[in-house]
Amino acid sequence: MITELSIPVADIIRKQREFFQTGKTKDVAFRIAQLKILKQAILENEQEIVQALKADLNKAEFEAYATEILVTKEIDYAIKHIKDWTKAQKAAVPIEFFQYSAKIYSEPLGVVLIIGPWNYPFNLIIAPLVGAIAAGNCTFLKPSELAPHTSNFLAGMIPKYFDPAYIAVVEGGVETSQNLLAEKFDYIFFTGGTSVGRIVMEAAAKHLTPVTLELGGKSPCIVDTEINLEHTVKRITWGKFINAGQTCIAPDYILVDKKIKTNLIEGLKKTIKEFYGDNPASSPDYARIISQKHFDRLANLLKNGEFVIGGETNREERYIAPTVVDNISWEDAIMQEEIFGPILPIIEYSDITEAIALINSRPKPLALYLFSQNKNLQKRILQETSSGGVCLNDTVMHCGVSSLPFGGVGDSGIGSYHGKASFDTFSHRKSVLKNSFLLDLKWRYAPYEGKLAFLKRLLG
Ligand code: NAD
Repeated sequence: MITELSIPVADIIRKQREFFQTGKTKDVAFRIAQLKILKQAILENEQEIVQALKADLNKAEFEAYATEILVTKEIDYAIKHIKDWTKAQKAAVPIEFFQYSAKIYSEPLGVVLIIGPWNYPFNLIIAPLVGAIAAGNCTFLKPSELAPHTSNFLAGMIPKYFDPAYIAVVEGGVETSQNLLAEKFDYIFFTGGTSVGRIVMEAAAKHLTPVTLELGGKSPCIVDTEINLEHTVKRITWGKFINAGQTCIAPDYILVDKKIKTNLIEGLKKTIKEFYGDNPASSPDYARIISQKHFDRLANLLKNGEFVIGGETNREERYIAPTVVDNISWEDAIMQEEIFGPILPIIEYSDITEAIALINSRPKPLALYLFSQNKNLQKRILQETSSGGVCLNDTVMHCGVSSLPFGGVGDSGIGSYHGKASFDTFSHRKSVLKNSFLLDLKWRYAPYEGKLAFLKRLLG
């Protein structure tokens, strides 16, 4: 494990720069080999990963595999496509450039920094790392201190498989993060909250370092009347309460058509019992809140509205039952910030135009969900709202499709990743134009006399 106490960060960065300068990471065969090693490292340590996630979040083994270890699919996808991605792309040239040829080369940026959050503490470090490796960079990883077991595991695992001059892990909290941010990196990939995102961007600006900010926000879930109710309640319950609601793209709140509200609430109640039993505290499949601080923040949000189901808490165990809350107003505290926990407020609407206006009056969310078979409504929501991504008739699943770029817009983030988007994020697209010596037309050279008419003809 490397901490800033044992080897100064600046020294590791220097070593990484030296390694990058050797050009080794530019070799596509090297990148593929490293991606294979990364996959191997994950497969050889599955049980350790499961245990670390259990210790940090009481994550069920099933969820550990489904949402963290299966990040290996991103590795497979990168290995499958990397030869295409790294090929120089031909670009068209206008007729006036008939003797030129144009190409776009994707080149690595150099030494990049990845700062991760605690909610999917393994996946959200490894998934961007896949992009950084595929694009040919050296990487610094800073996992979240709030998931200490996973952070510690990563700090132990990575050096067993990779030289720190290529991939290094630095453990620590805010201070470590800020010390890292004071250094010059060639790219910063940050996943976390919006307010810390601002701090990261400010620090990056000092070095003119480009950033990806994968942030959060309140992702609305609209439920129309034209649905299959049984499927709807299952998909919402799953997306909201997986990882005890600590998912950046969990449906934050429900906006439901007044006509179907009672049925939806009854369905959610029934499904929550089906998934987690009468006492979710004893369900092996239900996670815990990451820290006492986050528990207290969430407990405070429970002061609004009327519980339809849930509401039970246990501070010592950082347990909050899957909770659905009715009679919530837009002014309540729970509607002012991202919930990021297992509390689901229900707000009814009688006019979808008003519901859309309310969504649009707030910061742009990371995800937006619509349950409706009505094609016109689907079209309207897509046209009239803006969000990082949209999933129709489901929740959360869109982040599992590698061909879909994943990221926010406005307050929910800058940039995107997954699949090719990860490769592009960690690459510079270098435009290259090539002339030939066959001809040398004089129209652009001084003296300009008599040449303007030709130029004006180009205006069309
Ligand atoms: P956070 O912003 O508190 O912390 C993220 C990282 O930033 C950690 O590694 C932490 O050590 C570091 N950090 C914290 N304070 C810092 C500071 N002042 N200066 C520099 N670095 C600092 O976020 P979190 O609580 O770990 O995660 C929750 C947030 O992340 C939620 O808002 C959630 O929506 C968002 N999130 C987004 C995505 C996404 O893909 N867009 C995924 C997961 C989580």
